[in-house]
Amino acid sequence: MRFEMSKRAARRFVPGERLEDAITTAKELNEVGIMAGIDHLGESVEDESLARKMADVYVQILEEIAAKGIDSNISVKPTQLGLGISNELCRENVERIVKKAAEYGNHVRMDMEDSSFTQKTLDVFKSIRKTHPNLGTVLQTYLYRTEKDVEDAIENGYGLRICKGAYKEPSDIAFSKKAQVDQNFIKLLEKLLGERARKNGVYVGVATHDDKIIDWTKDFVRENGVGKEEFEFQMLYGIRTNLQKELVKEGYQMRAYIPFGTHWYPYYMRRLAERPANLFFFAKTFLGE
Ligand SMILES: Cc1cc2nc3c(=O)[nH]c(=O)nc-3n(C[C@H](O)[C@H](O)[C@H](O)COP(=O)(O)OP(=O)(O)OC[C@H]3O[C@@H](n4cnc5c(N)ncnc54)[C@H](O)[C@@H]3O)c2cc1C
Repeated sequence: MRFEMSKRAARRFVPGERLEDAITTAKELNEVGIMAGIDHLGESVEDESLARKMADVYVQILEEIAAKGIDSNISVKPTQLGLGISNELCRENVERIVKKAAEYGNHVRMDMEDSSFTQKTLDVFKSIRKTHPNLGTVLQTYLYRTEKDVEDAIENGYGLRICKGAYKEPSDIAFSKKAQVDQNFIKLLEKLLGERARKNGVYVGVATHDDKIIDWTKDFVRENGVGKEEFEFQMLYGIRTNLQKELVKEGYQMRAYIPFGTHWYPYYMRRLAERPANLFFFAKTFLGE
C-alpha cells in the first residue's frame, strides 16, 4: 500500500484517498447523468473507538454531499463500523449515520461482507430498518440462503442491492459454478422486480457489469411495464464506464459505487481476483506501460 506504483494501479478502481477525490469524481459522474454511491474504504475494524471514528467519517461524508449538492447516497461496511466486535456497537454506529442521512433526505446501504457476517448484518439492518426506511442492504446470489432472504425482503418492502457476491465461500453454503450464480441472479431479480415486490415498496439496485443480466433486465422491465424509475442499475467506479453512460442515454437510472480512502488494498485485490485480465493492467503499470 505504501508503493506509489501500486497506488497508481489501484486508481483505476479507487479515485483517491481523500474525501474530496470521491466528491470530485461523484460530481463528474453526476454531470453525465450517473448517480453516485460513496464508500469509505475499510473493514475488519477490531477497536471500538476506531469503529466510532469511522461512523464520524460517514457523518462528514453526508455533510459534504449535502454541502456540495451531489447526487449520491452512501454505502457502509458493517465490519468497519464494529460488527466484528458486537452487533450492538455496529447498530449504534449505523443508526447514527442513518439518522444524519435522514436529516438530509439521503439513503444508506449496508454492504454485505463474507458469510460469517450475513446473519449479523441482516439482524442489525432489520432492527434499524423498522424505524428508518432510508436504510437498505445487499443480498448476494451466490449464497443458497439468499432465496429465503429475498422472500423476506419482498414481504417487508426493503430497499436492496442484488449482486453476485465477491468473497470466497464454501460449497456447502454457496454455488460454486458461475453459471449457477448467474442463473440464481435472474431467478431472484425476477421476484424483486415483480408486481408483489413493487407493491410492497421494494426498490432494487441491479449491481452487475454482466451483459446477459443487464439485457435480461431491460427485456423484463419492458415486457412487464416496470417503470425505469422503479429500479436502478449499479456498477463499480472504473468498470465498464462506457456501458454506464449508454444506459443513462437509454433513460435508465445508473449509480456508480465510488470507494475512497487509504484502506484500498482488500477492495483492489477483490477486483483483481474477479477478472484475471486485470492483472495484466496491474503488471503494465509496474512495467511503465
Ligand atoms: C455497485 C456494486 C456494489 C457491490 N457491493 C457488493 C457487496 O456489498 N458485497 C459483495 O459481496 N459484492 C459486492 N459487489 C461485487 C459483486 O458481488 C461482484 O463481485 C462484481 O460485481 C463482479 O460481478 P459481475 O456481476 O460484474 O459479473 P462477472 O460475471 O464477474 O463480470 C461480468 C463482466 O463485467 C466485467 N467485470 C466484472 N468485474 C470486473 C473487474 N473486477 N474488472 C474489470 N471488469 C470486470 C467484465 O467485463 C466481465 O466479463 C458489488 C458490485 C457492484 C457493481
